[in-house]
Amino acid sequence: MKIVIAGGTGFIGRALDERLSRAGHSGWIVSRSSAKAPGTAPNGAGSFRVVEWDRLEEDPSELAGVEAIVNLAGEPISQRWTNSAKKRIRESRIETAAKLGALLERAKADPQVLVQASGVNAYGFSDSASFTEDSPTTDSDFLSSVVRDWEQAAKRIPARRRALLRFGIVLGNGGGALPSMLLPFRAMAGGPVGSGRQWMSWIHLQDLTRLIVHALENDSLSGPINAVSPEPARNEQFGRAAARALGRPYWLVAPSLPLKLALGEMSELLLKGQRVLPDKALQSGFRFDFPEIQPALDDLLR
Ligand code: NDP
Repeated sequence: MKIVIAGGTGFIGRALDERLSRAGHSGWIVSRSSAKAPGTAPNGAGSFRVVEWDRLEEDPSELAGVEAIVNLAGEPISQRWTNSAKKRIRESRIETAAKLGALLERAKADPQVLVQASGVNAYGFSDSASFTEDSPTTDSDFLSSVVRDWEQAAKRIPARRRALLRFGIVLGNGGGALPSMLLPFRAMAGGPVGSGRQWMSWIHLQDLTRLIVHALENDSLSGPINAVSPEPARNEQFGRAAARALGRPYWLVAPSLPLKLALGEMSELLLKGQRVLPDKALQSGFRFDFPEIQPALDDLLR
């Protein structure tokens, strides 16, 4: 398949490029950075060519034959949520989706499928409820409202089928949340964050890239799809598994108040969570290589 990956230079995009290239797919990674374009993919492994947004604005014609789109682009959320950061986090997603849609229309492209990144934040926070794709979404906090607008903006990207993958916390090496989550454990100071009761809906990077390919190839999958392992973990379970995988102690509580003071509103991501289940992926026949947290962390940290 000829595939466009917007935001494909990041943590997930690099792993996806490798997987898709190995499976014989090719296409373009669209990037803002002239340093990365044009040429080969950033890790040198893939058969995806990096092309600048600006160059496509000048001439989008090479997108004419695109068969599939994966849209991962967006300002990182792991920063202090000042007003200007919040604006960038929201607008980068909405504007990129609009830009991508306009470019594909100008190129008269007729893609079969869009896989759009989204987040489990769509469901809001809860210590007790479980959420499937049938659960109502909310816009009661900053990230859930960003996700709502992001999924809405994705409707402007032309595609015969749209799969909205609501990613949980993606666990992998070389990026994402895991390296900073492990810092206290590496410093022999690991333990529960806040109450330790908050849910973490997570997915191993290997399973996420497999699920993206599954969504690209499986015509029955459309609409919201939870991209999370079938066994969400409470923060305490995650911490114990991380300590065990690293051979470090699990003993020191990271209290809520200093985290709130240090990180501001963004501390919500550490102190609150949601238990999200991948009903649609399982019903479509997808099998997770890493359904449980301990083997997932053992694999990543060995
Ligand atoms: P990264 O931050 O590693 O990569 C995102 C890519 O988006 C970057 O490579 C960059 O490409 C592009 N980008 C960054 N800032 C902007 C901006 N202001 N405007 C336009 N493009 C921008 O993210 P991940 O690979 O970890 O995640 C991919 C998507 O999945 C993100 O949108 C993220 O929010 C979402 N997600 C990720 C989760 C995770 O645990 N990692 C969990 C839930 C959702 P370039 O610089 O080449 O233009």
